[in-house]
Amino acid sequence: ATPLSVTIATGKGAQSGVLIRSAQVLENAHKLDVLILDKTGTVTEGKPKLSDTIPAHLDESTFALIAAAEDPSEHPLARAIVDAATERGLSLVEAEHFTAITGEGISASVNGHEVLVGKQALLEQHGVKSLPQSLESPEIADAIARLSTEGKTPVFASVDGSFVAALAVADTVKADSQEAIAALQSQGIDVQMATGDNDVTARAIASQVGISHVIAQVSPSDKAAAIRGLQSQGKLVGMVGDGINDAPALAQADVGFAIGTGTDVAIESSDITLMSGKLSSAVTAIALSRSTMRNIK
Ligand code: ADP
Ligand code: MG
Repeated sequence: ATPLSVTIATGKGAQSGVLIRSAQVLENAHKLDVLILDKTGTVTEGKPKLSDTIPAHLDESTFALIAAAEDPSEHPLARAIVDAATERGLSLVEAEHFTAITGEGISASVNGHEVLVGKQALLEQHGVKSLPQSLESPEIADAIARLSTEGKTPVFASVDGSFVAALAVADTVKADSQEAIAALQSQGIDVQMATGDNDVTARAIASQVGISHVIAQVSPSDKAAAIRGLQSQGKLVGMVGDGINDAPALAQADVGFAIGTGTDVAIESSDITLMSGKLSSAVTAIALSRSTMRNIK
């Protein structure tokens, strides 16, 4: 592209809230073979709310322990749990020895109790007893399976080494996600979704927006590795993400699109910032790239 056409395209983009960092991405954005979308905060609003607890009537002292342990965490799931506890009028004591285990959950000490909150695998790794799958009654396991099929994320909690509750957290799909994804697919782009969330929940959300290829239960470095794998097959790969977790993948992608309402780290690792936070802005960015390159030839 000529310097002038790049300047014009960059200016047009800025007017519609699409911030383009370099001439190179402008040249590449309309040639993408694959576009990988992060789930939470990209396809969905990223403002999850606590929807269910198992058991349904979770006693207040247990709930308060779980919420207190999550309070130092910035993760959207943690915010959902803390907000729900606060709405119930529970007061949270300060947690000690808080540790965040990226892509897994958290551990903390509250009032002398050891609390773990996160994936089932996290609790298993810590030798937690009486996990739902090992309970004699399959009711809890069934309830968790049903909530996951509805696209909700189950979070597991233990106190002093024993399972105490599962909490389901629901996030809504952004209003324009389905339409934007259909527009991208109609341009021949293979749209995929990647998430650290479990497979059942991830597939439920993906099917709501017309995505059939789901990469679930991946760590931040797995997301980047998945992109590298596609690139080694000769594909030009884009990534859209918002979280700290998405930074390695955004940097690895040929074109990294950051959701402008997301974290600074994601924005710094990306090539294009979508100020509106909507996926339709990625469609706009790709259209701008195409028209700019067409005018040059
Ligand atoms: P995503 O790719 O959807 O942004 P993450 O990689 O941040 O997901 O997290 C993956 C999974 O790890 C979550 O779905 C959840 O099960 C668990 N997890 C991570 N952090 C927390 C936390 N603070 N509280 C509870 N669960 C957590
Ligand atoms: Mg996210």
